[in-house]
Amino acid sequence: GFTCGIVGLPNVGKSTLFNALTATQAAEAANYPFCTIEPNVGRVSVPDPRLDVLAKIAGSGKIIPTQLEFVDIAGLVKGASKGEGLGNQFLGNIRQVDAIVHVLRCFEGEVTHVEGSVDPIRDAEIVETELMLADLESLEKRVDAAAKKAKGGDKEAKALVDAATPALEVLRAGKPARTAKVAKELETVFNQLQLLTSKPVLYVCNVDENAAAEGNAYSAKVAAKAKTEGAETVVISAAIEAEVAQLEPAEKQEFLASLGLTEPGLARVIRAGYKLLDLITFFTVGPKEARAWTVHRGARAPEAAGVIHTDFERGFIRAETIAYDDYVACNGEQGAKEKGLMRAEGKEYVVKDGDIFHFRFNV
Ligand code: GDP
Repeated sequence: GFTCGIVGLPNVGKSTLFNALTATQAAEAANYPFCTIEPNVGRVSVPDPRLDVLAKIAGSGKIIPTQLEFVDIAGLVKGASKGEGLGNQFLGNIRQVDAIVHVLRCFEGEVTHVEGSVDPIRDAEIVETELMLADLESLEKRVDAAAKKAKGGDKEAKALVDAATPALEVLRAGKPARTAKVAKELETVFNQLQLLTSKPVLYVCNVDENAAAEGNAYSAKVAAKAKTEGAETVVISAAIEAEVAQLEPAEKQEFLASLGLTEPGLARVIRAGYKLLDLITFFTVGPKEARAWTVHRGARAPEAAGVIHTDFERGFIRAETIAYDDYVACNGEQGAKEKGLMRAEGKEYVVKDGDIFHFRFNV
């Protein structure tokens, strides 16, 4: 699975957001309920209106959305990289995730702030500094050791040094490792370094209830910061999300509309996380079920087949493929076939977002 780690200083609304995510899932997903793997880990369905369209055309009995994993990573405080608070455990948890959802407090309110005032830019910098310090320390150790081996002619060690050097330079200049320019042929080695600050980041601005639709001055500052970093921002009110999560579907739309919203903020967080991870969706559609599946952009057909079952990948022969738009325009598989819009694709085929597949394979 693909995992987003929710991070941020204490009392910014991480747990409120996580609990709203889980409560929504428990309420909505009858077929594929939210599942709590550990107390702080949960899988959420990725909202995708295309699934409803496909299920209607095919008369599918069930709709099964694809999923994304969220982890609530508590315990970051100033000094975490030096082992303060839950420091080391916290950093270890972040190393495991594919992307970071960084929650920033943009609401005033009565709630105590660990730093004494509301300032999301300062908070973001505190968190990022801890992550950069942790990266710097772990990289320096590894590069020192590898440099010695590289002198002795060890090629792997040399590659590690070459991949890590640009990251060390930017980290020493106080910038995250994701800003490092790494040569194409060293990208795999670079990714294996599992640096905390090379992971993609989504800023979630947690604003007061009255600012949920438009954001406020704090979230505007975060958006400006994100823009300079090529990062994304989502504005939500975790307090509203917690309330919405408890409502029946009909009440939900009414409540959201009264706040000037068309959908829960959570849907935007989930979609932004999906985009952040550079994931795409393909479908399998039949009378039994219409189902969405996830692969990384750039994946080839056998890899997509393998997401469904390892046997499909091992014995892969070909994929029969219809693009989503063609499927809808032809009112389903039969129509698409008649128009010659069902293609036979081989092992090298690169999956496109929205592809509808049948896989042919040897057992
Ligand atoms: P965490 O420590 O980051 O997990 O923060 P929590 O989710 O536990 O929230 C800390 C406190 O802030 C709780 O008392 C929440 O009720 C409150 N809180 C969270 N989000 C909001 C919000 O959008 N508005 C207001 N006014 N309070 C919030």
